[in-house]
Parts: sequence; C-alpha cells; structure tokens
Amino acid sequence: MTTPGSRTCRLGVLHGDGIGPEIVPSSVAVVDAAVAAAGGEAIEWHELPLGFAALTEYGEHTPASTLKALEDLDGWLLGPHDSAAYPEPHRSRLNPSGTIRKHFGLYANIRPAKAFEGGNALVPGTDLVIARENTEGFYADRNTFRGTDEMMPTPDVAIMHGIITRAATEKIAHSAFRLAQRRRRKVTIVHKANVLKMTTGLFRDVCREVGRQYPEVEVDDFHVDAMTVHLVRRAHEFDVIVTENMFGDILSDLAGEIAGSLGIAPSVNSSDTHAMAQAAHGSAPDIAGQDRANPIAMNLSSAMLLEWLGARHDDPRLTDAAHRIEDGIARTVRSGVSTRDLGGSAGCSEFTEAVVAAIGSSR
Ligand code: ATP
Repeated sequence: MTTPGSRTCRLGVLHGDGIGPEIVPSSVAVVDAAVAAAGGEAIEWHELPLGFAALTEYGEHTPASTLKALEDLDGWLLGPHDSAAYPEPHRSRLNPSGTIRKHFGLYANIRPAKAFEGGNALVPGTDLVIARENTEGFYADRNTFRGTDEMMPTPDVAIMHGIITRAATEKIAHSAFRLAQRRRRKVTIVHKANVLKMTTGLFRDVCREVGRQYPEVEVDDFHVDAMTVHLVRRAHEFDVIVTENMFGDILSDLAGEIAGSLGIAPSVNSSDTHAMAQAAHGSAPDIAGQDRANPIAMNLSSAMLLEWLGARHDDPRLTDAAHRIEDGIARTVRSGVSTRDLGGSAGCSEFTEAVVAAIGSSR
C-alpha cells in the first residue's frame, strides 16, 4: 500500500520517428518541471528503443525487450512512428503503436479536442473528448489474434473484415460514460447503423444499454457521416463522443483541427492496468529535424498520463502536475508564444522552454 503523494513513478520514453525525438524530450522536460512544481517525487525515466532506431539495432521496430521492459513500468510516452517508410517486411507488419496497443490490450483511446485562447480554433469553445475503441472495428491490423486481417486473393482484389464485439464495446462505453460523469454529462454515440447494420448497429445498441446504468448522463447518436457535419458546424456542443476504432481515428483528426491544430491534439491509450501517452498526430516527416514541431499534443498526452496515474495510484501530486502542464501551456500560448501551426514563430525548443518557465513560475 502506498502513501498518497509518496510514490516514485517509473515511466518509459519511446522517441519514435520523425518529430518524435523533438516532441518526446520536450514532454519529459515539461513533466519533470510540473512534478517538481507539484512537490512530487522525481520521475524515473527509462529510455527504450523503438521505430527506425530499433530496426537498425535490433532488426525489429518494436523489440521484444522493449515490450518486456514496458511491462514493469507505470506507463510510458510513445512518440509517433513513420512506419509507412520502413523497409519491407516491416512496413507490411503491424506498426509499433498497434503492436503495443495489442500486446497490452489498451482498449480505450481517449482523445480530447479542446480549443484555447490564442489557439486558432475553427470552432471556438470546442471542448470535447472522443472515446475511441482501440482493439477491433475495421482496422484489420487490430482485429485478429495473429497476423493482420487483410488479404489479396488476386492482385486486383483486396479483402478485409470488421469486427465488433459486445465485450469490447461494453468496456469503451463504460469508459465514455464514466468520463462524461466527470464532465458535462453527455455522450454521443457515433456509428453507421443504417448501412453497417449488424456491426455498428451492435456497437450503438450496446452503448445505449450501458448508458442506462448512467441515468444522469444524456445520450444521443449520429451516423458518422452526419457527425462530420455536426462537428464542423457545432463542435462546441459536444461533450464525450464514443465510437469504434476507424471512425474514432478519423473524427479525432477532424476534431483536433477544429480545436486549433492537429499539433495540439493529445491522447492516452489505456487498459485497466496500463496507460500510454501518444499524440493523436503522426510523425510529420515533412518538418522533422527542423525544430518546427508543435510539442503541445505530446505534452498534453503526457499530462493525461499523469492524470490517469494520479487516479490509479491515488496520488494527488501527479494529478496536480497534470493540471500544471495544461495551465502552463495555456498561459504560454496566451502570452503570445506559439509554434508556426498556431500562427506563431517559436520552434519546438523555444516553446518548450517557455512552458517549463511558465510551470516554474506557478509554484
Ligand atoms: P499518421 O498516419 O502516422 O497519423 P498522417 O499521415 O496523419 O500520419 P501527420 O504526420 O500527422 O500525418 O501529419 C499531417 C500534417 O500535420 C503534416 O503536414 C504535418 O507537418 C502536420 N503536423 C502533424 N503533427 C504536427 C505537429 N506536432 N506540429 C506541427 N505540425 C504537425
């Protein structure tokens, strides 16, 4: 039994590819500053190989030794990967984040989209969270026990299957409703039950069933195509959106951009026992190595991880540190320092220094 506030957290650091080696170290610096400001125990960081760096050294993008090491940690920061650029056969295999999500059964991908002052939001006031089911649906690389569920019987025919189960839907639905209880008490179920009647129809019906256990939470539902329109027009009216894997992936990019930029869209992937911070965006190879990346998404993902750990281990200092990161970023952007995607001119390193200073000044 640990005493609240006394715990040393052991976190993994996986830089990944593209802008990963810029935004992940930025997040380590920001987390260290926030934990210190909150009076918590210093984080014990464990750097582990992944992505291109691991391919060169271990012949695998996600070495077994990395997975093994992660098992003993409290959580980890995963940088983005540029798996589309890996040499074959690695390119065709399950990618690093899919491998980790599957290995640890990280069924909930929680992706907030929150606009903040000075943040260039297309729909000001947007403050929603997408609860994306992470292990099945129409992503062929997630929905089989072994191998990926895509096949080409002839060079001109490609087949994939989608899978929705009651068990996985119940889990993500409970995550969504519990989240809504702590927020504005509204859940929107997104599906395509007019066409994908059995699969996404099951998803909608099971979410509705679970919703009956949370009578204080209001529920509605939309087809995914209609939902894109509602988000563009009135994203600020939504609270928690629960949906299957692929719809969630697409809608969260849209929601991130609506809230200001994909560069500010964070996420955490979790099971009941493990959690991984991962920005919603990719490795942005077009700007990699130029100190132009916006680290906000990765910084906020790390804050979400601290919040998850704070709740799991009853450690209010970790929760406090998470809020200090959010506040430090908001104050930095409000003061006029932001990266190019938000209309500013700061590089990743300059922005990080400003956030660390803002966190330090809030002690
Ligand atoms: P993936 O399929 O791996 O998610 P993607 O094809 O969706 O990747 P991203 O790597 O997310 O593509 O990049 C999409 C665009 O957004 C690119 O122009 C990229 O430069 C920009 N972008 C993504 N992340 C950031 C960031 N953190 N800061 C600034 N620009 C970003």
